[in-house]
Amino acid sequence: MTAPRIVVLGAGPAGAAVARALATLGYAVTVVSDKRRFDAVEGLSLRVLEGLRRAGLFRATVCAEPCARTTLWGGTTQTVNAEFLVDRHAFDAALREDLREAGVEIVEATVRSVQSTPCTHDLMIETADGPLSLNADFLVEARGRLAPLMRDATRGPQTLSLINIWQGAPGAAASAMESLQDGWAWMARLPDGRCYWQMTLDVASEELPQRDALLAFCTRMRRSPLASAFFSGETGEHALLHARSSTATLCGRAGARNWLRVGDAAMAADPLAGNGILQSLASALEAPAVIHTLISRPERAELALRFHQQRIEHLFMHFARTGRDFYALEQRFGGSPFWQARSHWPDDAPTHQVPDFGQLAIARAPVIDGDLIGEADVVVSPDQPLGVWHLQGVPLAPIVQALMHENARESPHENAQDNAPASAHEALKSLDADTARMIRQWLVAQGYPHALV
Ligand SMILES: Cc1cc2nc3c(=O)[nH]c(=O)nc-3n(C[C@H](O)[C@H](O)[C@H](O)COP(=O)(O)OP(=O)(O)OC[C@H]3O[C@@H](n4cnc5c(N)ncnc54)[C@H](O)[C@@H]3O)c2cc1C
Repeated sequence: MTAPRIVVLGAGPAGAAVARALATLGYAVTVVSDKRRFDAVEGLSLRVLEGLRRAGLFRATVCAEPCARTTLWGGTTQTVNAEFLVDRHAFDAALREDLREAGVEIVEATVRSVQSTPCTHDLMIETADGPLSLNADFLVEARGRLAPLMRDATRGPQTLSLINIWQGAPGAAASAMESLQDGWAWMARLPDGRCYWQMTLDVASEELPQRDALLAFCTRMRRSPLASAFFSGETGEHALLHARSSTATLCGRAGARNWLRVGDAAMAADPLAGNGILQSLASALEAPAVIHTLISRPERAELALRFHQQRIEHLFMHFARTGRDFYALEQRFGGSPFWQARSHWPDDAPTHQVPDFGQLAIARAPVIDGDLIGEADVVVSPDQPLGVWHLQGVPLAPIVQALMHENARESPHENAQDNAPASAHEALKSLDADTARMIRQWLVAQGYPHALV
């Protein structure tokens, strides 16, 4: 059998993470990507940097600039040293460097068309030297929000971000965020003096003027007390204007036997939480095991695709509800359609459930087992519906099952089964002290009501 040719479309964080991991697994990978067509500054959390390191994308972490972030939300102002700023041109270039270092071939080109069958993918791409056709056995769709969406996609409230960039005087890096009557604004200053202001609002907002009046609208919005103080006299008279769609989207089908969607192409969150790169990495870090399974263990294809689909959908709902709760914290503009829509979408289910040991169950579920997707007994809870398999290598299902059995035996209303699993306490005693403590803490966090030896 010849080695399959894998083509990854898009060299953002998701495409880069998947391509690098597949190359490490020994696959021949080609990444086809064009360059970002607009300037963007984004804020990363420490968790994103950890995720990038986990993905082996070290150069990308180096261009992150630490800074203090001020947030004015719900009438309260807070400043924390919690953000890392990246100029996306520099960040994306560093991702490509990481890929080259890992031996991944990168083709700088725009993808014009993709014709797929269950056996192959025929691509037409536009390079600097003209059009080229390319063939792939396996395709990874990582073109972010520009990846074509099918009819089965789910969309949140239609949202748009207007961006202004201008040059100011060099100084310390900083960022800030504020809620406004018809949306919210995020702003940043880079050490080289570049100023960045981004306002996110509803596409249907009555405040949104015609295209030729947009810059004047932004200039007016930038006069809020927080933005004026933040840019301290940098008026942005010659600011460039750019618009980005920032509607939360979830693709319908996230994969098949010879293709997979990852990152924003699979699900894109509202930029509110500044978690976009984190969630794009979350799906990308798990995707290599799914792809490796689809290629090398086709008999497990259904299991691998179920794993990927469930995780994408779970991630989407998790970020959507987290965003809803954050919008709901802002009560001052409750009457405005922007805040009304977003503080109730996607539903009213709680983001986190109160822990209740009685609600735990054991289920058979797909898990990442080494480089592949396998199946194992996992502990399922309302908060973790996809299940938890192990904690630092210690399987949790046998311990929870034993505790459930012991609880049932203690209860006069329950019939204890004869084939009782081994004692949970014995199992805990057999572990080293640190691991046993970690498992006990986990059980307490799940609402286990009794003292544990
Ligand atoms: C307004 C806004 C603000 C945001 N702010 C933040 C923030 O502060 N922090 C944060 O963590 N996230 C933020 N995000 C989200 C973040 O940008 C994305 O979640 C993240 O970049 C997704 O990574 P990705 O690899 O999936 O896609 P992308 O990073 O979008 O990468 C896709 C790649 O595909 C390439 N591509 C696209 N179409 C084609 C084509 N036809 N041919 C060839 N190549 C193509 C692109 O050039 C790009 O290189 C923001 C998003 C928006 C909309």
